[in-house]
Formats: sequence, structure tokens, C-alpha cells
Amino acid sequence: MYKPAATYNRLASSLKLSLLAAPANRSCMRNSFSTTAKLGVSFDLSQDQLSIRDLARKFSREVILPAASAHDKSGEYPMEIIKQAWELGLVNTHIPEKYGGLGLGVFDASLVAEELAYGCTGIQTAIEANGLAEAPLILFGDEALKKKYLGRMTEEPLIAAYCVTEPGAGSDVANIGTTAVKQGDSWVINGQKMWITNGGKANWYFLLAKTDPKAKTGNAFTGFIVDGDSLGITVGRKEWNMGQRASDTRGITFENVVVSDQNRIGDVGKGFKLAMGAFDTTRPLVASGAVGLAQRAMDEATSYALERKTMGTAIANHQAVAFMLADMAIGIESSRMMVWRSAKLRDDGQRNTYYASIAKALASETANKCAADAVQIFGGNGYNSEYPVEKLMRDAKIFMIYEGTSQIQRLIISRAICDSAAK
Ligand SMILES: Cc1cc2nc3c(=O)[nH]c(=O)nc-3n(C[C@H](O)[C@H](O)[C@H](O)COP(=O)(O)OP(=O)(O)OC[C@H]3O[C@@H](n4cnc5c(N)ncnc54)[C@H](O)[C@@H]3O)c2cc1C
Repeated sequence: MYKPAATYNRLASSLKLSLLAAPANRSCMRNSFSTTAKLGVSFDLSQDQLSIRDLARKFSREVILPAASAHDKSGEYPMEIIKQAWELGLVNTHIPEKYGGLGLGVFDASLVAEELAYGCTGIQTAIEANGLAEAPLILFGDEALKKKYLGRMTEEPLIAAYCVTEPGAGSDVANIGTTAVKQGDSWVINGQKMWITNGGKANWYFLLAKTDPKAKTGNAFTGFIVDGDSLGITVGRKEWNMGQRASDTRGITFENVVVSDQNRIGDVGKGFKLAMGAFDTTRPLVASGAVGLAQRAMDEATSYALERKTMGTAIANHQAVAFMLADMAIGIESSRMMVWRSAKLRDDGQRNTYYASIAKALASETANKCAADAVQIFGGNGYNSEYPVEKLMRDAKIFMIYEGTSQIQRLIISRAICDSAAK
């Protein structure tokens, strides 16, 4: 069984992380924000939150960051790094304690995600995609299914994937064509999925399929857990994307794949809601990944601007450059606040969809602006792969696309505004 505190100490010392305290009191960590909630607004982190943030920060800077460029160039999946992160309790952070996890809230997970992303968002996305696959199961799965599939994620460092998008339908989830047809106590799945993060590495998939072609969206789809080694699954080639190349993105074909009815999540026909419901948990975390990238861009640009001299002075002394740094800080600080707000609402059990969309859109666009301006501040060097910022610029773009494009976030935000005004 997974023992985070013990493994934590072992790896912490090997990584010279001895200053950090083990997350010994999990319930204290989990409850720290509900305590502050009673006192009103607070931006202070609890001691446990500082500990896990610092652990993630050290791991990211000492393990992820030095390996990032090599993984970007080779596209090699960072399994060894994921294993180390898993040993430290930095993967699957929100799996409840009763299934062997730490049971952290979205807020605490956002602190971890930001720090991991600082080192490399490709590696952080590979880690975070587990959380996306697990979210519908945690929210809507029955006990037996949770015990089986969440439990195994805490017993060994396994990978999972969220399998919804298809070649013909991404934003338009209601238009997906993969079908699941009931045959006795099983379902037979046929269809093609596309752009599946961790697709070639997954031990299991969360999959959304159409179970009633004639029904309206709210009753037409059902969610399933599909074992990665099921007969009839064909995993496509690793896609060579613009950025985040450490992450494994693939097309997956399902041909007469038989899945037991016990692997169904929630009621038949109610899958659309559970596939979308996962985003209230995961969008704040995607947004915090974007904040981590933006922070890295600002830090790299600041160091460079203080060193590089033109016209007899450091370029940081040219107001045009200094103000780019200021604009980065404005974007980063405000994005982080939206991440925190959307995450805390979720942890408090309140509806956070509107805030999660604002956080996702704002942080994604901030990351892209910060990375592009960091390249600008580096000048010619910024355009070269020997320096870190061109990778940041390539890595940043996907934040505006996956887990709902920036346009889809605006659709959600504007609908919420109009619905509220119409009431
Ligand atoms: C690297 C990567 C990893 C991914 N990982 C996963 C994963 O793990 N699991 C998974 O299921 N999917 C994953 N995706 C898929 C991703 O979520 C989709 O690509 C995304 O939702 C957009 O869908 P699409 O590509 O079909 O674009 P489309 O939906 O065809 O959109 C094309 C353009 O039209 C705009 N648009 C579409 N509809 C509207 C509208 N109604 N109003 C305004 N503008 C609109 C979009 O914003 C976009 O600019 C991943 C994608 C990539 C590239």
C-alpha cells in the first residue's frame, strides 16, 4: 500500500529536501482552508500548504527543470521523473485517503501544479492528465470501481488517460461518434479518439461514448473505465506537437472493445455531465500550470535583462524592457488569484464553473504573452533552442486549446453572465 510519508522521507533525503516536513497530518492539510474560510478572505498559506508547495518547488527545480530540454528534444516520455514524483506524493494528489491517496483539495493541488509546471509543462501535463482521467471516477464512480481503479494508482506509479476528443469533435463534445452498445452484462465500444494525453502509456482510460443515438445530449452519453490492455484497442503513433513534447499525445482506436457494465461510471445516459463536470476540478489546475510557465518566463527574462547590456547599461534599465517585466507580473499575480479563487470555491463545495473558465482563459493567455515577451527580451538568443524561452513559447500555446479552448471558456463565461442577468 502507498505510504506517502515514508517514501517522502526517503526521497526527500536523497534529493536533499530535508528541510521540508512530511505531510504527516493529512487531515490538517485537507482542512486548512476550510478553517481560514470561517475567518473570511485570507491569502496566507497554512504550514502544510507551504510544505507541499516547497516540496513540489524543490522537486521541480532539482529534477524536472534540468531534464526538460532533453525530453523536449527527444520526446521521450518522462516515466522515471513521474515515478519519483509519485514516490513523493506529487501525483494523483486528490485521490481520497480511503483509496490510499492524500485526498488533497483542488487548492492544494494547484500549488503543486504551478511548481511542477515551472520546471516543464510537458512533464507536468503528463502528471496532470492522470488527475483529469480520475476526476469523473472520483466524482461519480461507485465504491467498487473507485477502489479498483483509484486504489491501483496509489499502489504503483500507473498512468491513466481521459479519452473524449475525436478527430471530428473537440469543442463540440456533443458530436462525438464513438458508440457503446449493451450486450448482456457488457458494452461493446467502437470508435476513434484523438489527441489523448498519456494515450500510449495508460493503464486505463476514462472514455465517453454514445449509448443512445436518438437522445438529447444530456441523456445520450455514458462514461466508462476501459482497461488499457483490452482486446481491440489500437494505439496510434506519438504525435509530434509544437510544444510539451515530453507529454504523450495519441489517437486511439476502439474496435469491438468489450467492457463490463461494472466499469460504467454513473447512470446510463448521464456521461456528458460527468465528463464536463470533471473540468470544474481540472481547469483550475490547468490554469495553475499556465501560471507556473508564466512565472518561469518572467524569472528567465528578469535574470537575462539584468545581465545583458546595450547602450552602456543593463537592458532592464530601458523602460521598454522593464515594463514588459511589469506586465508579466501583473498577468501572473492576477492569474494566480483567479486560480486560487476557483480552486477554493470548488473545495468549499460551491459552483466554480464560471471562475474556473476565467482562470483558465486568463492564465493561458498570460502564459502566452509572458513567454512571447520573454523571447523578445532575449532578442536573437530568445529565438534559439540553446536558451530556455523558445521552448516556453511553444509549450504555452496548448494552454489556450486543451481542456476547452479560450473561445469555449468565453462561451461559458458569457453564458453565465447572461443567465444571471436574465434571472
Ligand atoms: C496536445 C493536446 C492534448 C490533448 N489532450 C486531450 C486529452 O487528454 N483528452 C481529450 O479528450 N482531449 C484532449 N485534447 C483535445 C482538446 O481538448 C481539443 O483539441 C480542444 O478541445 C479543441 O477541439 P478541436 O481540436 O476539435 O478544435 P475545434 O473544436 O474544431 O475548434 C477549432 C476552433 O474553432 C473554435 N470554436 C469551436 N467551436 C466554437 C464555438 N462554439 N464558439 C467559438 N469558437 C469555437 C475553437 O476555439 C478553435 O479555435 C488535446 C489536444 C491537444 C492538442
